[in-house]
Amino acid sequence: DPRITRIASSIRVIPDFPKPGILFQDITTLLLDIKAFRDTIDLFVERYKEKGISVVAGVEARGFIFGPPIALAIGAKFIPMRKPHKLPGPVISEEYSLEYGTDVMEMHVGAVEPGEKVLVIDDLIATGGTLCAAIKLLERVGAVVVECACVIELPELKGRDRLGDKPLFVLVSPA
Ligand code: IMP
Repeated sequence: DPRITRIASSIRVIPDFPKPGILFQDITTLLLDIKAFRDTIDLFVERYKEKGISVVAGVEARGFIFGPPIALAIGAKFIPMRKPHKLPGPVISEEYSLEYGTDVMEMHVGAVEPGEKVLVIDDLIATGGTLCAAIKLLERVGAVVVECACVIELPELKGRDRLGDKPLFVLVSPA
């Protein structure tokens, strides 16, 4: 798909952010390219519009950028999956491991009904720990996670393997 080339070249790579040795994939430059941004949303919408998905769950923070336009276009609701102590209502929490230490993800209780079909979206999958935590939270309340979707995959970190048999759809894998 020729749209992928433009999306890939609109993503800026910043060395040594947030720490030395990290090559940070920066999607804010994709958002500045109106055609690339629209194509990104369209590619996800084309894939998910006829799949019976009633919920798009976006992972903080960049899943909040891509998730809502997809949700509106496919006629689904949007759920924010947040860092701890951000959501005001009753939550369920899931701890997950990072490169150094752990973090916690939270979701509002009652945001999704048992049996609802969910798409989980984030900007990027690295080790897959973040998406795994989102899947666990959603499955704990009986939701059915149909697929995870990201703009970018860093394949060398093998996050896809960590997701097990859960399908992962990505647009771009940097060399
Ligand atoms: P994982 O849990 O190791 O898969 O890391 C994925 C999470 O870290 C996602 O929420 C990403 O937004 C964030 N992340 C890791 N590396 C990058 C990057 O290079 N650019 C943007 N986000 C990143």
